[in-house]
Amino acid sequence: MKTNTLHTARLKNNCPTCFGTDGLEITFTQEEKENPFFKKPAQQIDEKLYCHTCKNTIYPVNWTEDIERVFDYNKKIAETNKQYLKVKPLFYILIVVAIVLVAAVIYVLIPKV
Ligand SMILES: [Zn+2]
Repeated sequence: MKTNTLHTARLKNNCPTCFGTDGLEITFTQEEKENPFFKKPAQQIDEKLYCHTCKNTIYPVNWTEDIERVFDYNKKIAETNKQYLKVKPLFYILIVVAIVLVAAVIYVLIPKV
């Protein structure tokens, strides 16, 4: 399991805990499962608001209206960076191998004239 960071932003808002204005940072991440055939990112985007001044994670219950507004704006940016299912070359190689095998089987099974 891998975590991709989609978007981070420093906020100018007041921290609800220490009231500092230069410590808040919001991070949007997305989990990604990887196997030999494809990379499969989670549907959901996870978000975290962290204050570098007081070293606290600020949970949504403590968010002010202003933080929510900035959060919504940044969430839209994160959505545009969202990752989707990526098929790897091995997947295509397997499909080609499968087609060749099926063709070979059909060739062997069809009676020769
Ligand atoms: Zn703080």
